[in-house]
Amino acid sequence: MTARFASTAFGLKTRVAQRGIRAVDRSLRTGERLDPEMAARRQHTATMDLVRYAFDTTPFYRDRYREAGINRRDLFDPDIFESLPVVRKADLRERQGDFLAEGVPPSRRLTSATGGSTGVPVALLHDRRAPVAAMWWRVYRWWGIEPWEDMAFIHRERRTAATQRREALEWWPSRHLVLDSRAMSPASMEQFHETWTEVMPRLLNGYIGGVHEFASYVFEHSLSIHAPHAIGVTSAPITPSQRTFIESVLGAPVYDQYRTAEVPWIAAQCSERSALHVLSDLRTLEITDDDWKPVPPGTLGNVVITDLCNRVFPLIRYEIGDLTSIIDEPCACGMSLTRIAPISGRISDVLRLPSGLSVAGGLNALFNARPDAVRQFQIHQRADYTIALRYVKGDSADAESAVADAAERLAVIVEHAVPVILEPVEFIAHDRGKARTVVCDVAAPVAS
Ligand SMILES: [Zn+2]
Repeated sequence: MTARFASTAFGLKTRVAQRGIRAVDRSLRTGERLDPEMAARRQHTATMDLVRYAFDTTPFYRDRYREAGINRRDLFDPDIFESLPVVRKADLRERQGDFLAEGVPPSRRLTSATGGSTGVPVALLHDRRAPVAAMWWRVYRWWGIEPWEDMAFIHRERRTAATQRREALEWWPSRHLVLDSRAMSPASMEQFHETWTEVMPRLLNGYIGGVHEFASYVFEHSLSIHAPHAIGVTSAPITPSQRTFIESVLGAPVYDQYRTAEVPWIAAQCSERSALHVLSDLRTLEITDDDWKPVPPGTLGNVVITDLCNRVFPLIRYEIGDLTSIIDEPCACGMSLTRIAPISGRISDVLRLPSGLSVAGGLNALFNARPDAVRQFQIHQRADYTIALRYVKGDSADAESAVADAAERLAVIVEHAVPVILEPVEFIAHDRGKARTVVCDVAAPVAS
């Protein structure tokens, strides 16, 4: 299929079937080059509109704000936002139902496909009307990739066959190949490489751990690979040596992006590949001290995020458990969207098996089906390959059996190749507010 055919076919299809996305795409293109003051005003208006909506439609925000002495009329005070109480992961777990906005039809609810990124299972709902497609069109455009081009992904494959068919139509004529990060083996990587050679994707996007594993596989087997135009990585900070290795093996620049289960598509690097631009016309991101007051640019602090696109399950001043700082200098790319330094509080999550098989990413979702079974959990692989599932038991009556089920799922994920043991604990230590879901003490294979 030629690039011109793909571009034309995609253009025709979206004019007919995806007019909404095209309209959002146009407004995002204008929005990212607005005068910064105008952009800040628009963001503030949208944020306070959401705050009042949440107060009017959800028991959680009504109760929480009233407890803090904040009444509805206070929500018209332009300076009130920074004083609003933050939302914690524990709030999502304990008062989940109270976050649901009244009057929103259930058909608009979209179940979160992944678990929390910090070892605390959360169950929240997304808004089907959120312009997620326009968000990835935008970020990929920054990397020189158009939505009709062929793409490869290394992430957790969680879609049903029916969803895969529906999405294939939605993406047509772009082909999307997926390597499931939960079970990366020499065989699955060989298959992926074969399809890659046939499709020649322009983009590779995936978990940093998985992308690094695939690059190591290509390197160790001295395979030739058709270089993509761009490589996106997510879910953990990338070290300079990982970046250099991936770029030299796969032959394309690596771009960092910041995405979470709770708020998808938060920020990404632009063509300059320095700071990350926040999608600040769609998310309000603050960096705060431990009292949740904003810190000056350049100061490391907590990421507190407000999703301007979720009216099903509003998230306002949500403390997501990551750390970074605001960068207060304009970007050479010309976009005025807020800039942040790469996230410094996230970690790569890979388990290693004696066979050389590794499991990257997706392990956060272990308790998705039963978020009430544990208050916290951590998967700790010891140097002898044994995996300890550490957990702080939740309140539900059958918590123990739900934990045993999760351990069994974990054993299946690692193909029963190593022992999985249960380790109940009183608490799991945080690393500056950031719990690590996966800790692996098995040394990584030497790749260079
Ligand atoms: Zn830029």
